Amino acid sequence: MKTCKRCKVALPELDLTEETRKQLSELILDNQKLQGVKFLMGTGVTHENAKIIMDHMITQKGVCGRCDYNFEGVGPFDCPDCGAFNYNIL
Ligand SMILES: [Zn+2]
Ligand SMILES: [Zn+2]
Repeated sequence: MKTCKRCKVALPELDLTEETRKQLSELILDNQKLQGVKFLMGTGVTHENAKIIMDHMITQKGVCGRCDYNFEGVGPFDCPDCGAFNYNIL
């Protein structure tokens, strides 16, 4: 399993449909992290994994969720600056 270089936690697989991805990105852009955790649990993700996922979620397009590193492209990435893994669903 992939781990985050920054906090060494094991990263759960994030498997979203196009529809659930859209719904979750709306919560993220709206800064509703707790709702995001609940939303993921509603798709069958455990509470622990949902928290890990939301802790590693970018909160604005093209910016690392842990530092201000700017990046291009789509899909998950490891930040070259702080080492944090980012689920990039926006
Ligand atoms: Zn981490
Ligand atoms: Zn970073």
